[in-house]
Amino acid sequence: MKITLLGTGTSVGIPSLGQLGWGKCNPENPKNSRQRCSVLIQSNNTNILIDAGPDIKNQLINHDLDGLNAIIITHEHADHISGLDELRPFYFPKKEKINIYTIERTATFLLNRFDYLFKKNEKSQSYFKPPMSLNVLSYYDEINLNGIKIKTIKQHHGAIDTIGLIINDKFAYCTDVVDFPEDSFNKLRNLDTLVVTGLRSTPHIAHAHFDLTFSWIKELKPKKAYLTHLSPDSDHDTVLSLCPKNVEPAYDNMFFNI
Ligand SMILES: [Zn+2]
Ligand SMILES: [Zn+2]
Repeated sequence: MKITLLGTGTSVGIPSLGQLGWGKCNPENPKNSRQRCSVLIQSNNTNILIDAGPDIKNQLINHDLDGLNAIIITHEHADHISGLDELRPFYFPKKEKINIYTIERTATFLLNRFDYLFKKNEKSQSYFKPPMSLNVLSYYDEINLNGIKIKTIKQHHGAIDTIGLIINDKFAYCTDVVDFPEDSFNKLRNLDTLVVTGLRSTPHIAHAHFDLTFSWIKELKPKKAYLTHLSPDSDHDTVLSLCPKNVEPAYDNMFFNI
């Protein structure tokens, strides 16, 4: 199974628009160019996408996917959902609805924001067919998609909770998290690979900063950990120099097999 980190940047991406731009990141290093966070999981004929932010079309266009078997949405913040509409063309060839999996609160949000993707209404063009359907997950759920086992955990993300994902009991993807309930934390022990938020050096109310993330990794003991959701404060090489031995900042289009 191949895991590709399509995007590894915080909500504004790097570079950001406006005066923030590259922030403290060296524009000469291509690893500092970061689109919004999403992950592609590929196994045999199965493609699963985690999150669909505003960069999603550009992130997927060179992967030549025939289709998407499922899209898992970790939470409803704009950097994780804004590109959902871009995925409509995957519906066109077979007219099979694209399955979205997420928690109930986020499902309700998506139904309001992207109502036309799920329900035909009187303002829809006559030819338009809603291309997606919603499947509600709970925290500490388990689903199996074409033999890929996916477990959900609850994560605290400031004002809201998000879902973290554990794939085939080997790989966990924990973005947009500042704290874990104990039950969640215990499920993350001794994995092969952990991809986890590491926003920047200084604390943030909704995202773990480096020292907090490093303290989790030290206790969880994954074989390898990668930081994601990095901010324009976080230059790749500078972050790498701060990382313990088995930890590295991720970068866009980095991939590994599990
Ligand atoms: Zn985010
Ligand atoms: Zn968020």
